Amino acid sequence: MVGRIGSPSYSIGKLFVYERNSYRLSHKFVEDRDAELVKYENARQDAIDSLSIAYQRTNERAGAENAEIFRAQVMILKDEEYNARIIQNILTEGKNAEWAVSESSRHFYDKFASIDDDNIRAKAMDIKDVANKLIRLLTGTDGALNIKEPVILASAYLSPSELVQIPRDMLKGIVLLEGSIYSHVVILAKTVGIPIVLGVYMPESLNGHEAILDGVGGQVFTDPDEELKEKYRFLIDEEDRAKIQLKKFIGVKTVTSYGRKVMLLANIAGLSDAENAVECDSEGIGLTRTEFMFMDRNTLPTEEEHFEAYRDIVDICKGRSIVFRTLDLGADKGADLLHLKEEENPALGKRAIRICLTDKQVFIPQLKGILRAAAYGDVAVMYPMITSVEEVEKIGGLMKEAKRELDRDGISYGTVRQGIMIETPAAALISDELAGMVDFFSIGTNDLTQFTLAIDRQNRELAQFYNPLHESVMRLIKMTIENAHKAGIPVTICGELASNPEATKRLIDMGVDALSVLPKDLLKMRKVICEL
Ligand code: PEP
Ligand code: MG
Repeated sequence: MVGRIGSPSYSIGKLFVYERNSYRLSHKFVEDRDAELVKYENARQDAIDSLSIAYQRTNERAGAENAEIFRAQVMILKDEEYNARIIQNILTEGKNAEWAVSESSRHFYDKFASIDDDNIRAKAMDIKDVANKLIRLLTGTDGALNIKEPVILASAYLSPSELVQIPRDMLKGIVLLEGSIYSHVVILAKTVGIPIVLGVYMPESLNGHEAILDGVGGQVFTDPDEELKEKYRFLIDEEDRAKIQLKKFIGVKTVTSYGRKVMLLANIAGLSDAENAVECDSEGIGLTRTEFMFMDRNTLPTEEEHFEAYRDIVDICKGRSIVFRTLDLGADKGADLLHLKEEENPALGKRAIRICLTDKQVFIPQLKGILRAAAYGDVAVMYPMITSVEEVEKIGGLMKEAKRELDRDGISYGTVRQGIMIETPAAALISDELAGMVDFFSIGTNDLTQFTLAIDRQNRELAQFYNPLHESVMRLIKMTIENAHKAGIPVTICGELASNPEATKRLIDMGVDALSVLPKDLLKMRKVICEL
């Protein structure tokens, strides 16, 4: 089946077709109430088991704070009052189990959701999740993403929060019908080096079949014969050999043959990427997509959680500079975390800095966490989706407020350089004014291309029109670099264009100071630059 390149690498493995089953709730009175109770008890135990596994995995991969949500849900499943109402619904009123669960959960949800306290409202959301889980188990529509062996995952669509719940060693590859190489789920999967093919639909009937995923050619072969498998085994070996070859660029300076030095930095989404970046000899971290670190939960991180997560990264990076981008939530990222309303145009909607400037409770704890982590290393903060001078001024005010709060509480913090993303045409066009207000620019070519060309970066139908090398995008990049240099500040490119060898010479000639790429592309890009 022919699709498109998602992440150019190969894999051979068993297919796991993920169908998001919808369920229909049936409201029935039952004759055998005891049997219905047993059915409920079994589902409850299964839910406890599966959430406990989710707790363990998240704890290992993202720490106890991130895993907390699953522990809270297990506690609801064990809660006496919650269970008593369900059991009464079944035994006294004769309702079927899913009806009993849905009625009781609605009762507790309404009770908590109406209370004006964020923690209690978060509990209401947990009850809703628990009810969904139980009903899916009772109606046989659960367990779809419960992956227990290494597989090639095929799905029409995958959200970033679903992806982060799957252990890395269980994913040999991903086949998606929707999404583009610029969608966040694909960037996230690429960050950890998972091969991906896009634009291919796998019917559920192929579940468990063997497949070859050719992310280089953008193809998937199901039930391959021995000859084809042999060909791909060879390509996989060759790929491994090329990776070993690239290792010789570890410790080499990133300089062109004519002596132009370029900083080569890494884009990361969490602690394990930071480890990869250091292993691949990154000179620093040019972009930390902090929103990905808190995606598998539905409450906002506290100041302490922000601080600890960032300090861990600072520790791993051992003296290298690190840019933490403030939460770039909204659009396709983090709807659960903020309980965002549906929007007509989410890419143009309440997102990124717009959320942070509307709700201080989202922003200030993160700023404080970053400031505190800066006491341990070379830390910078960067703000996404900037469009105006006024936004940068407001951010300045909130940064002062964050520092005042830390001073008041006698908590130590370090100095941070402050930069902005240039990822809207508005920001590029007023980059002369913005340059005087910040310490650095980082050009986000993924969004800059989306907004300049008015093409949804996620829309697979439009992939042929989405061109980050479009002359209009190039001119905005050039203008931004010139304005930055006039003001004496450096410019990084941190969009996917930074790892596209077709653009490297042109970007360097324009004067870009640093390229920030996924850890897996670091050595490849060092080779490209050194060979220029
Ligand atoms: C970009 O828009 O180019 C960018 C780096 O940010 P993100 O891909 O996270 O939106
Ligand atoms: Mg962006």
